[in-house]
Amino acid sequence: MIIGGLQKFSLIDYPHKISAIIFTIGCNFRCPFCHNPELVNPKLYPKKIPENNVFEFLESRMEKLDAVVITGGEPTLHKDLYQFISKIKSMDFLVKLDTNGTYPNILNRLIKDNLLNYIAMDIKGSLDRYEEIVTTKVNLENIKDSINIILSLYKSNKTKDILNKKTDYKSLDTKFNMEKKVNISKRSNAEMKANKSKEIYKDANSNTKVNTDLEIKYEFRTTVLPKFHNEGEIHKIGKLVNGARLFVLQKFYPSKTLDLNFLKEKQFSNNQMLKFKKILENYVQKCLIR
Ligand code: SF4
Repeated sequence: MIIGGLQKFSLIDYPHKISAIIFTIGCNFRCPFCHNPELVNPKLYPKKIPENNVFEFLESRMEKLDAVVITGGEPTLHKDLYQFISKIKSMDFLVKLDTNGTYPNILNRLIKDNLLNYIAMDIKGSLDRYEEIVTTKVNLENIKDSINIILSLYKSNKTKDILNKKTDYKSLDTKFNMEKKVNISKRSNAEMKANKSKEIYKDANSNTKVNTDLEIKYEFRTTVLPKFHNEGEIHKIGKLVNGARLFVLQKFYPSKTLDLNFLKEKQFSNNQMLKFKKILENYVQKCLIR
């Protein structure tokens, strides 16, 4: 992995968890509003942080951190991402991956092998304007595939909910025990971590505990700015991710951008952000503004 940054502590990047953030170098997109230009423009690349240093740090924080967030740049560009995440998982950390969705096959393999706990995928805009927004060629079929892979997680998570609601604990236990068997040795240490915001809930009618960390959570998110987005575009984005569990609208802040001209670019008012949120609520389970 080519790592350009390590943020040792965050309370906001992995929802409800204490996390560290690893920033990978390199991206295949060139979003002009990107606020991590040093990870995207080769002329600005920072000094690489050796992988060993990152693992030494994580080892020293095994009892204190819940999760590791891998972001970029675009982490799925790195050929050894699978091995890298496997190693982090073997240390009992939850893993969140931020991605632009370019490589659905990599995403799929990581999901199938239970290596991810949270996925955040950027939706840059409607498919009609994708290349204009990211200013590079884009394989739109890959973007659609990634969206569908992630959307199918909600359906499988929902199946777990239905199982739970029917209080069919026998099958529920079997299902979770199967998953637990895989992770039990890895997780035992994590579960001893002083109840650090673990999302364990207890069914009111029984003593069955279900650790919702076993579900893969996800969000789609879009940074919106007047140059690229309007209400029509937001409807198109909504249709693209129809049925999603969570959508996050991010306001553009012109403080640091890949294209310096975008420092002068306008941002949406809070009112307009709320209007977009209302539109998206027609398509997704929940929409937040960040
Ligand atoms: S905002 Fe765009 S250019 Fe920046 S890291 Fe994300 S995908 Fe790459």
